[in-house]
Amino acid sequence: MDSINNPKHTTNQTNTENYPVPPFPHQKQPFPGLAGKMEPRPDHGEKSYQGSGRLNGRKALITGGDSGIGRAVAIAFAREGADVAINYLPAEEEDAREVIALIKEAGRKAVAIPGDIRDETFCQQLVEQASEALGGLDLLVNNAGRQQFCESIEDLTTEAFDATFKTNVYAMFWITKAALKKMSRGAAIINTTSVQAYEPSEILLDYAQTKAAIATFTKSLAKQLGPKGIRVNAVAPGPYWTVLQCCGGQPQEKIEQFGASAPLGRPGQPAEIAPLYVTLASSENSYASGQVWCSDGGTGTV
Ligand code: NAD
Ligand code: MG
Repeated sequence: MDSINNPKHTTNQTNTENYPVPPFPHQKQPFPGLAGKMEPRPDHGEKSYQGSGRLNGRKALITGGDSGIGRAVAIAFAREGADVAINYLPAEEEDAREVIALIKEAGRKAVAIPGDIRDETFCQQLVEQASEALGGLDLLVNNAGRQQFCESIEDLTTEAFDATFKTNVYAMFWITKAALKKMSRGAAIINTTSVQAYEPSEILLDYAQTKAAIATFTKSLAKQLGPKGIRVNAVAPGPYWTVLQCCGGQPQEKIEQFGASAPLGRPGQPAEIAPLYVTLASSENSYASGQVWCSDGGTGTV
């Protein structure tokens, strides 16, 4: 693994996973950024994830499936036997191509659907295209997200506030609504919230609110869909080493110490959270719904 072998990054004696620990180099990228340009490169489970047929024959749509957490989930789902469609922005084609190749290598159907989910019509087309290409839909992972830090409410523009809510909240609503037309008993929806829903940073005023909305949407919708046999859960990541943080998600000085305050002393790697999504998607977990599941390196926030 690149990150493990990178001599610039020391490893902590007690860190049995051998994952990189801070300090990290400054690395600013323009939004939406590329995982392929990060230093060290995140581990999405490319070389490590081993499936055991837990999602055999399932058909999944994952938003933001090109990089970070969504990419790790796409790799894990495919290796567990699911066919996978991913959505991402056109500027992320380079990252997306790698994910499509990995899904195919796992012997599963891979569908790439680029486009901007801030548009309701596109969200409807996304679900139609995914379901058409996969031959149905029974797993939806609403994972795409926009996080751009802003020090003061006085500098937070209506455009920025709107873009964060459109990407994180409206798109989840539009995509879920369209997906439900394709789903039946046994289907599962997994949303990505954040520890920010519970302990909001002062510089993430708009983002943190959207993550609280996602947690509440999850609990409300689970009550509505329980009688239909459809489960709805959310995952709340703590600090994960993804490009979201490097392209405006955090100031550069925070990138340097990213994950340092977690009891495990480092950020999580996307490969370390994908198993949670697999578990929530799997029908083995058929009684788990309406809950937020946290993975934050030991802080115990949620
Ligand atoms: P990431 O940048 O790798 O993934 C986010 C993805 O969102 C991008 O790849 C992009 O494809 C997609 N996206 C953004 N705007 C879009 C738009 N308008 N249209 C279509 N796609 C769009 O970063 P990540 O950290 O893996 O983020 C995945 C999710 O995890 C996000 O919801 C994020 O809020 C959440 N999260 C991340 C962390 C963390 O520390 N990395 C912590 C808590 C929650
Ligand atoms: Mg990306």
